[in-house]
Amino acid sequence: MAKAEYFMNVYGARQMTLATGTGCIVTDENGKEYIDFLAGVAVNALGYGHPALVEAVCGQMRTLHHVSNHFYTDIQDRLCERLCKESGMSKAFLASSGTEAIEGAIKLARRRGEGARTKIICLEGGFHGRTMGALAATGTVKYQAPFAPMPSGFAHVPFGDLEALEAAAYSKDALAFLYEPVQGEAGVRTLPGEYWQGAMEICQRHDLLVIADEVQTGVGRCGAFLASPLIGMQPDIIALAKGLGGGLPIGAVLCNERADKFQPGDHGTTFGGNPLCCAAAHAVLDVVLADGFAKSVVFKGAMLLDGLRELTVKYPNIILQARGRGLMCGLELKPEYDGKNVVTLMKEKGFIINCAGQNTLRFVPPLIIEAAQINEMLTALDAVIGGLK
Ligand code: PLP
Repeated sequence: MAKAEYFMNVYGARQMTLATGTGCIVTDENGKEYIDFLAGVAVNALGYGHPALVEAVCGQMRTLHHVSNHFYTDIQDRLCERLCKESGMSKAFLASSGTEAIEGAIKLARRRGEGARTKIICLEGGFHGRTMGALAATGTVKYQAPFAPMPSGFAHVPFGDLEALEAAAYSKDALAFLYEPVQGEAGVRTLPGEYWQGAMEICQRHDLLVIADEVQTGVGRCGAFLASPLIGMQPDIIALAKGLGGGLPIGAVLCNERADKFQPGDHGTTFGGNPLCCAAAHAVLDVVLADGFAKSVVFKGAMLLDGLRELTVKYPNIILQARGRGLMCGLELKPEYDGKNVVTLMKEKGFIINCAGQNTLRFVPPLIIEAAQINEMLTALDAVIGGLK
């Protein structure tokens, strides 16, 4: 068992040591197999060892793996063009992670505010990353408190409360509204269509920039390239990461003309958008944007959510709610049942899931998960939940 003796102990005790992966199955150091419904937390969109991803990355490694952003590369150009065309945005910046994409989005918005309007309105429970700007946007005190003071210029409003959003938007320094279409880390939390419609109207009335954190929901996860159009939001700035590189570290900030304010020297990064990660992103997009793929995610997502809803009906004393969009689903347990215990019991049965938010089991499998694997997982979950006392 790996012990991570020299790794700073920010992750506490980890579950196990993983050794290999193929398709949607990972194998631990003892050779036990698990169907992976976590996928590196919504990262491994194509699972493990996908031939197109392997070929793209190995081929690029042999050709040109990294150059600084002092130089153009054709593969980076083509990726930015693809991302813009697919999202309807006009410019892209490439980063290496979700938190870095959010930092880029914050800076871009601030650039447009020109120092007069600085405040970014965020939702309580939102998770935007661990670097200081993204952490200030993250509305969870436990993540922020040990690192106070937070950078200023962020306000948090209660999740789902339009009046509070409008009140915050009245402030003369209000600059932007930042949201996740589905709050992932908070426990796959969704809001009704009326909320999003109202939020969009408030943003338009108060000339707020609309910033979508699609780090977890984007790149096909919710059954469309982006989740924002599914809920009726029209962002000016979009942050992507996670699924974009299928496991290679790449993030992106996209913006429309209204938000396109960066000047030479305003922003930059060493690794962001290097050819190797761009090659991975192209391979992911080739699969995710192919005809019929989004439909398959919608279909499998509906299967998963229907199965979770059936469990909710079967175990009303244990389960509070099933919810989600596409292949991003959650099952919230009542507080007296420990979600982490269910994660462990599922692991024993050969399935990897995790527990997010208060007490919500989260299911974010590779987008190539098979219907039969979803059924297998639901059968195991039924047995585990049925066995809870
Ligand atoms: N935004 C959202 C919605 C996320 O779920 C995450 C990570 O979980 C982040 C930002 C931060 O991304 P990263 O961990 O790649 O920095």
